Amino acid sequence: MERYVYLFEEAVGLTRFELGGKGYGLVEMTSVGLPVPPGMVIVTEACREYYRNNGRVPERVLEEVKVKLEQLSAKVGKRLGDPENPLIVSVRSGAPYSMPGMMDTILNVGLNDLIVERLAEKTGNRRWAYDAYRRLLQMFGRIVMGVPGEKFEEVLRRYKEREGVKHDHELSVEALRSIVKEFKQIIREHTGKEFPQDPWMQIEMAIEAVFRSWNNPRAIEYRRYYKISDDLGTAVNIQMMVFGNTGPNSGTGVGFTRDPSTGEKRLYGEYLPNAQGEDVVAGIRTPLPLEKVDPKIYEQLKEVAEKLERHFRDMQDFEFTVEDGKLYLLQTRNGKRTAQAAVKIAVDMIREGLITVEEALMRVSPTDLNQLLHRRLDPKAKVNPIAKGLNASPGVATGKVVFRVEDAVEMGKAGKKVILVRPETTPDDIKGIIAAQGVLTSRGGMTSHAAVVTRGMGKPAVVGCEEITIDLEKEQFVTASGVVVKKGDVITIDGSTGYVMLGEVPTIEPEMTEELKVLLKWADERRRLGVRANADTPEAARKAREFGAEGIGLCRTERMFNAPDRLPIVREMIMATTDEERRAALEKLYPMQLQDFKEIFRAMKGLPVTVRLLDLPLHEFLPPAEELIKEIYEMKMRGASEKEIEEKLRVLRKVEALREHNPMIGHRGCRLAITHPEIYRMQVRAILRAAIEVLEEEGETAEVQIMVPQTAFAKELEIIRKLVEETAEEVFAETGKRIPFKFGTMIETPRAALTASEIAKVADFFSFGTNDLTQTTLAFSRDDAEFKFLQPYLEKGILKENPFEVLDREGVGRLVKIGTAEGKAANPKLEVGICGEHGGEPNSIMFFHEAGLDYVSCSPYRIPIARLAAAQAAIKEKVEVAITV
Ligand code: ADP
Ligand code: MG
Ligand code: MG
Repeated sequence: MERYVYLFEEAVGLTRFELGGKGYGLVEMTSVGLPVPPGMVIVTEACREYYRNNGRVPERVLEEVKVKLEQLSAKVGKRLGDPENPLIVSVRSGAPYSMPGMMDTILNVGLNDLIVERLAEKTGNRRWAYDAYRRLLQMFGRIVMGVPGEKFEEVLRRYKEREGVKHDHELSVEALRSIVKEFKQIIREHTGKEFPQDPWMQIEMAIEAVFRSWNNPRAIEYRRYYKISDDLGTAVNIQMMVFGNTGPNSGTGVGFTRDPSTGEKRLYGEYLPNAQGEDVVAGIRTPLPLEKVDPKIYEQLKEVAEKLERHFRDMQDFEFTVEDGKLYLLQTRNGKRTAQAAVKIAVDMIREGLITVEEALMRVSPTDLNQLLHRRLDPKAKVNPIAKGLNASPGVATGKVVFRVEDAVEMGKAGKKVILVRPETTPDDIKGIIAAQGVLTSRGGMTSHAAVVTRGMGKPAVVGCEEITIDLEKEQFVTASGVVVKKGDVITIDGSTGYVMLGEVPTIEPEMTEELKVLLKWADERRRLGVRANADTPEAARKAREFGAEGIGLCRTERMFNAPDRLPIVREMIMATTDEERRAALEKLYPMQLQDFKEIFRAMKGLPVTVRLLDLPLHEFLPPAEELIKEIYEMKMRGASEKEIEEKLRVLRKVEALREHNPMIGHRGCRLAITHPEIYRMQVRAILRAAIEVLEEEGETAEVQIMVPQTAFAKELEIIRKLVEETAEEVFAETGKRIPFKFGTMIETPRAALTASEIAKVADFFSFGTNDLTQTTLAFSRDDAEFKFLQPYLEKGILKENPFEVLDREGVGRLVKIGTAEGKAANPKLEVGICGEHGGEPNSIMFFHEAGLDYVSCSPYRIPIARLAAAQAAIKEKVEVAITV
């Protein structure tokens, strides 16, 4: 038969799903002999039954509570409702997952007019007795009977004013007695009912109120945010009260077994003398540091901390109360901590022999590592944001506002720190971005130029900050609230939160702490997935190595084409009308690409580098048609020469010819190579030449992997493979040196994934480009989706998450699985990786591990995250296997 109620000492072995987190902690603490006031737990099943029962507390539950109350009475020698020796209890909520402050707890249940009178007489502590009673009336009135809390607050305020005191506990006995009368009157007026004098009735009503609080709006909201199931229900803990408000030898506090912000091993906490529990949480008075508590108690707390950690094997956050010099524990749970503390605690606990390496690795949230790897706001600093945009590229930057790229470059050269503020950025602005500490734009999304470029550089950016209006003429911007920021004013942007602040805000350096390095080394020993970086520049390559990348999984070449000194040559190439002209332009680009690749190969000696051949629609390198039309018009107006105008017209015609209806699925990637093979030929030549030169100069070079984008047909790859091999032979003949290289393709069209067995015969490796694969599988263009319909899709539950952030497992994920399995079956040597943004997202990494990929590739600053997440995937798999076997 189902049982609903257990005394703390009877419930050992039940889980936190049955007991709720609070109940679980109380039961466990009781079992190891810590001083916990005795009590009982009503399991979560009772709450579920309550809701199935249309909001009526099941009779059986109440009967069991009565039986347990009898046993409790016998144990503590106090009885519910007995004026001579009353049992006073708290009725506390406690869900399986901690939902701090979301649900309700009622203290001092069991007091009534008669009992409080006798208690006051017997103890001689009248102030304490009436204070306890007025708290009961206040909490019970608000939580159980639905009286607005304000009503009670008003009365308290009035009395404190009258007596000229600041705090509740300074009120006189007389005041407290009158307050009690007024509180009862408020309840009567507001509900038409009396405050129940029958203690049992109070308990019954309080239990119901706790069940009800599971579904109060803020609890529902909280569960939605943290993705906690609505079906779990809350447990109810009924526990004998101990009183921290009996006088100066009493008090209440909160402790952490280690410092939650640094992770340092020391008892940390706060204490409030002569107070009841909720005072600390409510911030009614400023608490004292724990060290100020009575030394005897402090010593005991240190022992408690030791014992708690040994038992729970994690840092604990606990509540305690001291009643007339005696210590009681009222709650414990795994303490929340900063990323820095999480890492330090995990590593320290391994060293202390408290936990295993696997446990430690599972305890640090990969996403939290993000906090550690960027300059971030000093948590102690007060910030006052003037605007908020999208948090496009994490990190904090401070500098003088500039609006023009030339100013950024000039001031940058002079060693000044600037923030480039633009409506949006274009490839032409790259110099300014390089010179600036950070970028702020008023338009554009997470994939806008500014966002992508800054992320690649690891430079902070806030984009799409629509709250600001930029006036490029006046060189100033205005925020929604009317703050005017002029050129030269100092601002700080936080790319991790999207906040923009006036002036300089103190920051702290990112740290790859000793502990983090140690933890990640352990992670490396356990993971199966390789971790590579998406990096296009030597700086990014070096950063990636510093963070532990095992190679470059995606080196995009279009970024190199976009550099300001190259754009004119690229344009020349595109405008070419004859093969000769085109070849001449490519000849000019060649030495530049050669230099780029050499630098990257040098930075990645001994490691694989996957270079992706050009993948951008050509029209993106040309000026927009509207601009050209305007220019031509102006030229005509001022009477420019025929020849000049004809030249511009030629550009315009080319732009129009290249204009595509749907560039995302237009003439790009390998499709461009089929019609214009000479671009890829030049790139392959530069890549192999660079590798050979680095090998000769340094005795070692990178493992070259040449990657073709946008493939849909094996035949495309066959043609390009032939082109690449021919070019390679030419280079080898010219240099008299051969080097091995791999040839492979991105899998970013559904057809490529579905025909993986064909494609794998022509490729040495696959790399899933999950961004485009998501676009092509869902037939969503990312920018349109994120700005126009993603939000309603999420709200209506069509999508659970942004598929560009969290892999769409049912669609895109299935293609990844099929592509991997069939590709490997057809070509056992095939190496399979992922180079899309999902490669740095922990949940997706778990999936890629399961799908049998060989490596993930992500932006450099996500490398530590990927290393940890990959280790967690491997550990989880091992544990799950162990359980199923
Ligand atoms: P929350 O989940 O909001 O923390 P709690 O159930 O922990 O709510 O109770 C609120 C406060 O009341 C806490 O500070 C707690 O320590 C205190 N408290 C709860 N039960 C008792 C009790 N039996 N004796 C003394 N203090 C208690
Ligand atoms: Mg609590
Ligand atoms: Mg792509």
